Amino acid sequence: MISGGIDLGGTKIEARLFDGPDAHTVVTRRIATPVSNYDAMLDALIEQIEWLFDNASGNREIPVGIAIPGIVDPHSGMVFTANIPASNHNIGDDLAARLKRHFVVVNDGMAFAVSEARQGAAQGYRSVMSLILGTGVGGGFCMDGELTHRHGNLAVEVGHIALPASAIARHELPLWRCGCGRMACMETCISGTGLSNIAEFKLGTRLAAEQLIGDEHALVLDIWSDIAGECLLTIQLVLDPDCIVIGGGLSKLHNVTQRLSDALKHHALSKTGIPDIVIAQHGDSSGARGAALLAIKQ
Ligand SMILES: [Zn+2]
Repeated sequence: MISGGIDLGGTKIEARLFDGPDAHTVVTRRIATPVSNYDAMLDALIEQIEWLFDNASGNREIPVGIAIPGIVDPHSGMVFTANIPASNHNIGDDLAARLKRHFVVVNDGMAFAVSEARQGAAQGYRSVMSLILGTGVGGGFCMDGELTHRHGNLAVEVGHIALPASAIARHELPLWRCGCGRMACMETCISGTGLSNIAEFKLGTRLAAEQLIGDEHALVLDIWSDIAGECLLTIQLVLDPDCIVIGGGLSKLHNVTQRLSDALKHHALSKTGIPDIVIAQHGDSSGARGAALLAIKQ
């Protein structure tokens, strides 16, 4: 089965053509995301879709799914997003009008969860949560490899849940304002940006994750792990997934699954143990791959 997936991000639009029962990548192409206005972004998206059709031997009916960093309203199809110029537009309808066919449009964190649950790192687990620790924090949830019905099609927006107050007090950290406008969202501490916030506050130097390698940096990583452990506890208390699959830049931190598992165990209430924490198998391609898998189904 040939299918196409597109990851529509704030900086690039990545198109991938997949094949086979395991949906492996055949070819991929990245272009920059036009951020000036919606029409330019839609034109670029269509250019990528046409490229997929060309690489599928001109077949314009292949399933194509589009993963977006935002919420798709379940009733109107309108998109709400901070990172691409598409808010209050209906990407699915606009593509259908231009290309005379249907496309699946899905939140990227949700697509990621589906991708990893189906022949990915979370294969074999029934309830799977994705946790993408990048510049921000995204998430998704699926059951038996399928999206579940929810009221407002919110993804699993854990990045914007309030931080555990006790952890912030314990480490004597300030409350940082989040990109969403609220104060002290989880994203302000546990994302890549959050890790740099902690480094800057504790060491006086703003360092990125890959620069935190010396013994003098261990404190920063320990604080990050401890706070992330409490955040994972919040997630466990609400969703109680079988498996949490980690993606994004911080998934490359040394021993990150062990760090997070130890921190969650330390804070856990439950005697039933903690979810398995694993690293995404399909990495950066999981958004596009999950969108393609969801398109095949429809
Ligand atoms: Zn926020």
